[in-house]
Amino acid sequence: MSTHQLRLDPLTGRWVVVSEMRRYRPSAIALSSETFPSDPARPCPFCPGNEEETPPALETYGPTGSWRLRVVPNLYPAFQGEEPMVSISHGPVFTQAPASGIHEVMVLSPDHGLTWAQLQSDQTNLIMSAIRDRIEAHSHSKAIRYSQVIVNQGRDAGASMAHPHAQLMGISFVPRELSDEQGGFSRFVGGCLICNTIALEESLGERLLESGSDAVSIAPYWSASPFELLIAPRDHGAHLHLSGQSALFGVGQLIARSLAILREKVGPIAYNVVFHSSPYRAFGNFHWHAHVYPKVTTRAGFELGTGVPINVVSPEVAIQVLAGERGGQEVAG
Ligand code: AMP
Ligand code: ZN
Ligand code: ZN
Repeated sequence: MSTHQLRLDPLTGRWVVVSEMRRYRPSAIALSSETFPSDPARPCPFCPGNEEETPPALETYGPTGSWRLRVVPNLYPAFQGEEPMVSISHGPVFTQAPASGIHEVMVLSPDHGLTWAQLQSDQTNLIMSAIRDRIEAHSHSKAIRYSQVIVNQGRDAGASMAHPHAQLMGISFVPRELSDEQGGFSRFVGGCLICNTIALEESLGERLLESGSDAVSIAPYWSASPFELLIAPRDHGAHLHLSGQSALFGVGQLIARSLAILREKVGPIAYNVVFHSSPYRAFGNFHWHAHVYPKVTTRAGFELGTGVPINVVSPEVAIQVLAGERGGQEVAG
């Protein structure tokens, strides 16, 4: 039976349209590409041997003389400096504040041609440890209230560099997506929204991708886009950087496995990974997690006009495809 309904995202409080019917329009799905065209005339600044092309590293991991992972300041930062968050109004309409903060690039591997889906499991553990270290460093800055960690893979997902990398932005305000999620956790009655979601999805099974000993990967009931995944540690904790190693590594391993499954069953498509952890000095309930957003469709007029997404692949169908019970071509072909 085809799904055609509104579903409420309890994290953000937003409605989502899940409409399998819309998928049968011609060209409803346009698979993107994880690759990024390289320009041979411009050597990659993130490759070994080109370390001078980036600002000096903030952290380097790996044996002396070589490296397995590097964190460098972003050469073109969106957030910079330590000015406190003070907004200034120039008349009744124009309000501004300094874009203070930290903007870093994490080079995920020395190997230019790999994506996170293809990295060895000890490299994924290193990525998670490095994220924890950097976020912990950000947490000591009084000017920073929240850090956003992201991975953009493929030009269609907003990447401007081919080499596998993440970005970490420490910013002076709590962005809307996070304050919406904080609202979702406080509205939820009966414990933690994510702990409850994990327990329910494990008992139902139809939206469960993987159930690990330390973390779980699901296609959320309220998925706003095809093949969207939510990966969360079993251990309840608000802050990624205060989390134990088993939770950190557990989430990292499930992200890598989910990306590998997506690649195998749907194709080498572009995607974004975003981490959500509680803002630093917030005391409300929160359960840190990661979202994986494969790039399969484009936001069109209705989405832009209303802010209401239309998802043409229900999470139940997405899991059937990812579990190999249904061909990816049938849905995404
Ligand atoms: P993305 O746009 O997701 O591909 O992230 C790549 C980031 O690397 C961008 O935010 C760029 O500003 C940054 N970047 C590009 N070249 C360099 C460089 N040579 N050193 C440091 N950061 C760079
Ligand atoms: Zn490279
Ligand atoms: Zn979230």
